Amino acid sequence: MADFDERDFDENEEETSLKKEEDGESKSQEEKKESEYEDVCFICRRPESKAGKMFKLPNHICVCNDCMHKTMDTVSQFDYQGMLNNPDLMDDLNKNLNNNGYPSIRFVNIADLQGEGGIPNKQKLKKKKPKNEKEPVLDIKNIPPPHKIKAQLDDYVIGQEYAKKVISVAVYNHYKRVATGTMDEIEIEKSNMLMIGPTGCGKTYLVKTLARLLDVPLAIADATSLTEAGYIGDDIESVVSKLLAAADNDVEKAERGIVFIDEIDKIAKKKNTTSRDVSGESVQQGMLRLLEGADVEVPVGANSKNAMVPLATINTRNILFICGGAFPDLEEIIKQRLKKQTSIGFNAELKDKFDKEKNILSKVTVEDLKKFGMIPEFIGRLPIIYTLQALDKPMLVKILKEPKNAILKQYQKLLELDEVKLEFDDGALEAIAEKAMEKDTGARALRAIIEEFMLDIMYEIPKDDNIGRVTITREYIEGTGGPVIDIRSISGENPDKLKVIEEK
Ligand code: ADP
Repeated sequence: MADFDERDFDENEEETSLKKEEDGESKSQEEKKESEYEDVCFICRRPESKAGKMFKLPNHICVCNDCMHKTMDTVSQFDYQGMLNNPDLMDDLNKNLNNNGYPSIRFVNIADLQGEGGIPNKQKLKKKKPKNEKEPVLDIKNIPPPHKIKAQLDDYVIGQEYAKKVISVAVYNHYKRVATGTMDEIEIEKSNMLMIGPTGCGKTYLVKTLARLLDVPLAIADATSLTEAGYIGDDIESVVSKLLAAADNDVEKAERGIVFIDEIDKIAKKKNTTSRDVSGESVQQGMLRLLEGADVEVPVGANSKNAMVPLATINTRNILFICGGAFPDLEEIIKQRLKKQTSIGFNAELKDKFDKEKNILSKVTVEDLKKFGMIPEFIGRLPIIYTLQALDKPMLVKILKEPKNAILKQYQKLLELDEVKLEFDDGALEAIAEKAMEKDTGARALRAIIEEFMLDIMYEIPKDDNIGRVTITREYIEGTGGPVIDIRSISGENPDKLKVIEEK
């Protein structure tokens, strides 16, 4: 920023020394440069784009409408008569008078204003470039059938076929209902969802991808931070205010957005507690109204309601709520139920049958969730319940290379800009997946692992212009060897394999 200002300053000086004919041209250039900047209010420091048109005062000082009015109000309400009649106050003021007879109180540091006249943009902020309006991939006014929604999701989300199918149908029904407004005779129930799946299996990613494809605003909230209104923590309506912020304060847009509440298992009823359960059961109770559809008043541009913040009323009837959680002890509850069922009669010997079974979560019922600590009214408002699978090794390998924005593709693109080809052999991909499996955080571990060993590659490769191709091997990932480096041939084609760099 400092560089930029200096450059402006120099240019201004040069301009003054130019001949008169060029004056007109330079003036228009200056105007253009000016228009890239916006004024900032001298009092509240808000830029023109937020505070509205400014009053322009001498010395490049701008004051916004609000501050100007507040100042005027304060001045007009000031009790000068009372001040003059107050002998103590007048005594104090007289003591503070300087030699010229003026009170030595400084409201503004005059030095800040002087000497800056030559730098016209010092008090301004550079305007943001207007965002390009993108066409949404899926048009919610003319919502495509579920198989098309799923096909779009397939490009990004690997596996989780069942979850993708359920979410596509639910979203299709939801937005069809919203678009046609068929609520009169047969009220179609809202398709709020509950997603159950281990951490890192793509719950958040699935919702994010969906919101992006549909181009609807998305708010992601964490249930652990929510508490009953009046207690420390975010109150429940703050999720709607996040949605409003995600919709650029456009109420209409927010009213057809998606709210994703993560870690919903953390607001289960607390067991064996004697104190008031302000972050568990009460949060579930508080959310009932939102899930069903209600008018909520939320602060605009702030997290909490107070006298200075304007409020907007948002109807949550058409907002799609998706809750997600890992529900760690739920498997035990399901197993117990299943065992109880089979321990009667001839099947009694199959008691340990379920211990080894994978994806036991997919057998979840509403009863199990109640036992876990979710209140029946809450589950009742999430009619679509489905589970996501834990990711296995082949799925992790696919996640590395197949999605449209796969991590490997991102690195390949980066190196392509240096005209270097980056390849991974199958052994390397498997080794990365094996390392990620050990961490037990699903696909979340992949990026950290790749970033760790790509650091050296990204550091070393740009040093040598002759490198044409780098192949990452299993040995390199496991730390027992190095990547295979191919040197570019003169014609640029068929690079000959020249050397293998062994790294310690
Ligand atoms: P969680 O289930 O805990 O919400 P996330 O959705 O945040 O997990 O997943 C973490 C990251 O892992 C995502 O940003 C995404 O890049 C990747 N990921 C997880 N699952 C998948 C999947 N099925 N397909 C593609 N990428 C995935």
